[in-house]
Amino acid sequence: MADEKKTKTIKTIKVNADLCNGCRACEMICSAFHAEPKYSSNNPERSRIRVIREPLRDQYVPVYAGEYAGAECAGRDKYVIDGKEYDECAFCRASCPSRDLFKEPDSGLPLKCDMCEGEEEPLCVKWCLVDALTYEEREEEVDEEEEESVEEMEIGLESLAEKYGLSKIMETVARMSAEKKG
Ligand code: SF4
Ligand code: SF4
Repeated sequence: MADEKKTKTIKTIKVNADLCNGCRACEMICSAFHAEPKYSSNNPERSRIRVIREPLRDQYVPVYAGEYAGAECAGRDKYVIDGKEYDECAFCRASCPSRDLFKEPDSGLPLKCDMCEGEEEPLCVKWCLVDALTYEEREEEVDEEEEESVEEMEIGLESLAEKYGLSKIMETVARMSAEKKG
């Protein structure tokens, strides 16, 4: 019998850097949404999206926080787009040791975009009035087995987070990952 296929919703935010005017509304709403308690403060350093701004060179690059990287990369890339040269790390989504982006300012723990879990649409997209950020959803087929194991892992992580608190879990994972690399 052929493998059972299920569909999974893939959420994507498309970034059009040409339309970004550097207003930073996305940073404000993201950090307010993730404040404890919610909306009690806004500090762009807690935002999971940061806008790399160089107004004199007319450069505005909205970047989403992605995976944590325990070490700096050995080689870097330079990009020239429409005659503008972008800094080496301008498009990188990682929280890494070579820059201050995407680190929770009090704990130093890495930040990652969670697509505003629980909201119908990502808030940064809603607040971007010039449509530099647009939200897309598509259905993709996945193996049922694969889907189940991801669900199982998520349930396990949720129960651990309930028991010990999310920051304790992240702290432990960051320490384990550093030990493994060291
Ligand atoms: S809200 Fe939109 S225009 Fe403003 S900084 Fe963010 S991406 Fe750019
Ligand atoms: S989708 Fe939500 S969590 Fe991700 S950067 Fe935008 S506002 Fe922040």
